[in-house]
Amino acid sequence: MTVTEQPIETPPRAPSPVHGFGTLAVHAGSPHDPVTGAVIEPISLSTTFAQNSVGKPVGLYEYSRSSNPNRDNFERAIAALEHARFALAFSSGSATTATILQSLAAGSHVVSVSDVYGGTHRYFTKVAATHNVKVTFSPSIEVDIAELIRPSTKLIWIESPSNPTLTLVDIRKVASIAHQHGIHVVVDNTFMSPYVQNPLDHGADIVVHSVTKYINGHSDVVMGAAAYNSEDVHEKLSFLQNALGAVPSPFDCWLAHRGLKTLHLRAREATKNATGIAEALQASPHVIAVNYPGLPSHPQHAITLKQHRNGMGGGMLSFRVRGGHEAAERFCQATKIFTLAESLGGVESLVEVPSAMTHGGIPKEQREAAGVWDDLVRVSCGVEDEADLTSDVLQALEKAVVGPKIKNGTA
Ligand SMILES: *Cc1c(COP(=O)(O)O)cnc(C)c1O
Repeated sequence: MTVTEQPIETPPRAPSPVHGFGTLAVHAGSPHDPVTGAVIEPISLSTTFAQNSVGKPVGLYEYSRSSNPNRDNFERAIAALEHARFALAFSSGSATTATILQSLAAGSHVVSVSDVYGGTHRYFTKVAATHNVKVTFSPSIEVDIAELIRPSTKLIWIESPSNPTLTLVDIRKVASIAHQHGIHVVVDNTFMSPYVQNPLDHGADIVVHSVTKYINGHSDVVMGAAAYNSEDVHEKLSFLQNALGAVPSPFDCWLAHRGLKTLHLRAREATKNATGIAEALQASPHVIAVNYPGLPSHPQHAITLKQHRNGMGGGMLSFRVRGGHEAAERFCQATKIFTLAESLGGVESLVEVPSAMTHGGIPKEQREAAGVWDDLVRVSCGVEDEADLTSDVLQALEKAVVGPKIKNGTA
């Protein structure tokens, strides 16, 4: 959708000089129903819309793959929260990635950070090549970027923080080099959510989300979104949104829009919980290392302070537990509030062992070079009470690390 036709309650051009994030989250793209006055938009399930005469639809819509009220409203809200002129919604985060990669001409070259989301890595290595798009991965993109750019380079793909080691990239640094060569920078902002980080404000050209995670926030919708300011990009991506048809249902748009209205509350609570847990882990003798951007000990804490709202660390962290892979598995089975499961960003807290779950498909050497050790545990903090979560982590550590030693008579 374009922001020009939006109702009065959404600021016409972002960034909004007037409204704060919470106000935008609640009101952007949420007009009252003009007929009934309903405060909450109805779910518009109709796939087709009547026309008064040939080619003259009654309202704004013709066919719901092309556009529909619930998707338009959700897209308006995403554009407002990401300080973008335009936003588009897709049927998943992966479909968003695929659509952006499809917009590149055959023969194009992409530079990506090495530790991208597994599904993104799979698309880059196994699908992009089929339409002759080549991807080069870099473990230190800020340093290598100038060398990796070729005449055919069209896109740079960043995830900050990365998954599951929570490594940060200085978006401004990469974007300023990319822009000298006319190259667009994409940032996957799934881990931070628009509340903690707005990549377009740091020079990125396109920000993408797996809406499945923080934006929806209730682990009941799979969806994706992209937001940007360029009309050229909008022309290409909105054409492909319709042409490829990887679109979300009106019901999913409605659910995700409902979730988004409390993003600021959830993101603040998740950050508070993650901070408390990260500090408890750092103080524990059973822990080798903690990866959390909100800790002053994080090697790139200066980027946290520069790029994240109020230096927030977000709701994701990972840590290495003493006792190897077995201890990591025992830890995840010993938690009582944290559920052992993949995914992240929901109201409920989750734990997982990346080396055996989300990142199991990456060869061990490559995995360990990126810091994904067998003893690494990834934690997604939900919005339960901090004291309950912290004591759950500490009791699970005792069971995972000390328990077996007592049993074996080594403690
Ligand atoms: C989950 C995820 C994706 C993929 O999104 P889906 O909605 O599962 O297709 C992309 N990037 C990141 C960082 C993710 O966590």
